[in-house]
Amino acid sequence: MISNDFTLGQHVIMRKPHACGSSEWEIIRTGADVKIKCTGCGRTVMLDRGDFIKAAKKIMEASDEQGR
Ligand SMILES: [Zn+2]
Repeated sequence: MISNDFTLGQHVIMRKPHACGSSEWEIIRTGADVKIKCTGCGRTVMLDRGDFIKAAKKIMEASDEQGR
């Protein structure tokens, strides 16, 4: 589970890897429903906000992406 504090464009690690093997997704829409896009294969999925928060494991920090 993650906090309710996330914004468009952030990358998020989901608990379960996608079928393509990637577990990193980009948030492309927020609101009552959250739309995410798989960074591995580009597939998009729409989730209820509550379900998204439960299914997500971690929000990537900008520093994580830079590897510092
Ligand atoms: Zn994928």
